[in-house]
Amino acid sequence: MSTAEIIDGKAFAEGLRARIAEMAASFEQAAGRKAGLAVVLVGADPASEVYVRSKGKQTVACGMESFEYKLPADTSEADLLAMVEQLNADPAVDGILVQLPLPGHLDEQKIISTTNPDKDVDGFHVTNVGRLSTGLPGFVPCTPLGCIMLLRDRLGSLSGLEAVVIGRSNIVGKPMAQLLLAESCTVTIAHSRTKDLEGVVRRADIVVAAVGRPEMVKGSWIKPGATVIDVGINRIEGAEGKTKLVGDVDFASAASVAGAITPVPGGVGPMTIAVLLRNALVAAHRNAGVALDEASL
Ligand code: NAD
Repeated sequence: MSTAEIIDGKAFAEGLRARIAEMAASFEQAAGRKAGLAVVLVGADPASEVYVRSKGKQTVACGMESFEYKLPADTSEADLLAMVEQLNADPAVDGILVQLPLPGHLDEQKIISTTNPDKDVDGFHVTNVGRLSTGLPGFVPCTPLGCIMLLRDRLGSLSGLEAVVIGRSNIVGKPMAQLLLAESCTVTIAHSRTKDLEGVVRRADIVVAAVGRPEMVKGSWIKPGATVIDVGINRIEGAEGKTKLVGDVDFASAASVAGAITPVPGGVGPMTIAVLLRNALVAAHRNAGVALDEASL
């Protein structure tokens, strides 16, 4: 039986997009142009195409300009770098996102490090990674920032809480840990070599699972009343041969122990694009020198 509060990321993301739309309209008035987000897709990966379409639609729905570039899978690194340089120099473009993963012949790090850090709305450039770890204003990767927004909304102050992040990727685990540290949590990063993962998870007031293993974290691992944020998106075989999406947490068992939990789908997932739009709007204000109370977004 589910006793945990269900953290509704879909509803939260809707509210965030509404605030973004309001502020995008005031930005347009103040700057005399719309905030602009450029998304570059190389190749025709079906999942990436869905993401890119959805990003474009939501950008426009929030009153921002969407620039979409679809390049063939065999685009050379030199051509892609030239495109990034062109977007760096374009004053109508505030944020640049090159959809990952890229085809194997393209060096992702090289592409990321060519992006102007002040337009790097994904927060992957080493300058932004450094800014996050030293507490300077920059851009924070969208998914972990979305998780922090949900946690703050549910818990208020996170100060002094014991947080365990499972996963140490550059995209989710590491920036998530930095953000929790900045909120004054006591942070543990667990990963594939962690001994006694179960015991580590059991001491957490906040569990963030970003592993990519379907339903790995069991309810019996969770401290009663803990807040569980499930970043995992895994497609598994469901009933009648249909596939279904599940997280990294075994929702049924965890929801009977946790104080609050994000579902999959409808938890962290919807936050990612909403936070991307937030980052793009922040970039626009900074680039155009228009004041913004960033904390209100
Ligand atoms: P990744 O593969 O880069 O990293 C996975 C991490 O999990 C690694 O650091 C690894 O050490 C750890 N790990 C693997 N097996 C483990 C085990 N048995 N025990 C403990 N730790 C283990 O993945 P990622 O990019 O960080 O993504 C993680 C999950 O989050 C995936 O399911 C991905 O689809 C999902 N994701 C969701 C969003 C979103 O918008 N909601 C965004 C990004 C990623």
